[in-house]
Amino acid sequence: MRTDSFAAYLRSLVVGANTPVPVTSGKYVTAINFDNAATTPPFYSVMKEIINFAPWYSSVHRGAGYKSILSSDIYEQGRKTVASFVNADSAKDVVVFTKNTTEAINLIAYTLFQGDANEIVLSTDMEHLANDLPWQNKCTVDYVNIDCDGRLCLEDMKSTLQKYQGRVKLVAITGASNVTGHINPIYKVAELAHKYGAKVLVDGAQMVPHCPINMRLHSSPEHIDYLVFSAHKMYAPFGVGVLIGPKETFIEAEPVIKGGGIVKLVTRRFIDWDEPPYKEEAGTPNAMGVAALIAAIKTLKYVGMEDIHKYERQLIEYTIQGLKCIPGITLYCCESQHEERVSLISFTLDGVHHKLLAELLSREAGIAVRSGLFCAHPYVQKLLKLSDADIDYYHSNLDAKFPGLVRVSLGLYNNYNEIDVFLYLLNSIARNKEYYKQKYCAAARPVESSAQEAWFNVPRRRLP
Ligand code: PMP
Repeated sequence: MRTDSFAAYLRSLVVGANTPVPVTSGKYVTAINFDNAATTPPFYSVMKEIINFAPWYSSVHRGAGYKSILSSDIYEQGRKTVASFVNADSAKDVVVFTKNTTEAINLIAYTLFQGDANEIVLSTDMEHLANDLPWQNKCTVDYVNIDCDGRLCLEDMKSTLQKYQGRVKLVAITGASNVTGHINPIYKVAELAHKYGAKVLVDGAQMVPHCPINMRLHSSPEHIDYLVFSAHKMYAPFGVGVLIGPKETFIEAEPVIKGGGIVKLVTRRFIDWDEPPYKEEAGTPNAMGVAALIAAIKTLKYVGMEDIHKYERQLIEYTIQGLKCIPGITLYCCESQHEERVSLISFTLDGVHHKLLAELLSREAGIAVRSGLFCAHPYVQKLLKLSDADIDYYHSNLDAKFPGLVRVSLGLYNNYNEIDVFLYLLNSIARNKEYYKQKYCAAARPVESSAQEAWFNVPRRRLP
């Protein structure tokens, strides 16, 4: 594996990797962003593309002007670039641009299900709410169990599919967990789902930016029928999400979001819808967002998804080994080095509430982590072994602090030095809990106000 120079090269791809932020001591330190599962900073290549495209930007699909034709071309080319990145079949699949993963899953949920309780979606206990709530009230939803390390129980999936005897229409599963980082065996899941007559949807929000994914041929039992993901988690934060699925899914179904740009002709007597994917994209398409996504995909491909995965895998393994040496840390994942994972890990520190710990890391050393339930409430509740009585207690006692985890999620531009700073501080907090608690529980300055100050004091660069 390429190492130091590769790491430096990766870091140079990202805007803002070395931004100074204020900490409690009054000094400024280089921000350490370990919250990449939430969203990533943009690539320089993405920003460059935005600037280069700006003079040509115009309305997609509607105008006759040169710029409009060019913008439409770039937008349509984006579908091809996206399809080839994940090996979708451009003849059979359509690439629909949405706002993000959440909108993509809602869109497919409304397209496939109209409230028939006899139709079943099989989801899992390890999903983000974006791959859980949209299915509810549109069909019957059941959930595959997880094991004590938070991994998917494939055996349970098999017996549940057997139990429903062909009534499961869709298996909706995350490619990689945003809580434990576990990568699911999506090709095995697809094979199993297809054997029982179901289609499979993979929530690729945490997978597509971190490792190669291949939707595989439609004729393969391992084919991924539907894939969704977000550009803002892959270094192109300009408001685009992706839904890929078979064209035939959308042909008969009514569009979910209706308005201009999705029809051939409307009269007071009939509506003649356009073809998919156009009929799923009502309103003005986000051409800038798509241009940004194409640029990000080109950069990711240039670096190589395999190499990105390997490098990030080493970083997270180093983090896990470091965390294991700190007293009072509990990790929420399967700790085996052979476990397939993306570059994130969640943990707790005995005696320090997750929210306070996240705040301490930020205020002491400018380290951004996420804390709480990570929009995967049922999963985190299971990992923490919270009973219904526990949950009810916290739910009805607003003063009681709801338990949760702290999550470190790495991007390709993070490095060993940053992990060392984080581990060093965490170790110090673990060994001096009372000192840190007192320091911060005593009317400390709210982090928001110093953040605002820092932002307003940033020297503004002039555009060329
Ligand atoms: N699925 C997973 C696994 C995620 O981690 C997230 C974002 N945290 C989402 C779905 C939702 O993505 P978005 O906010 O881009 O819609």
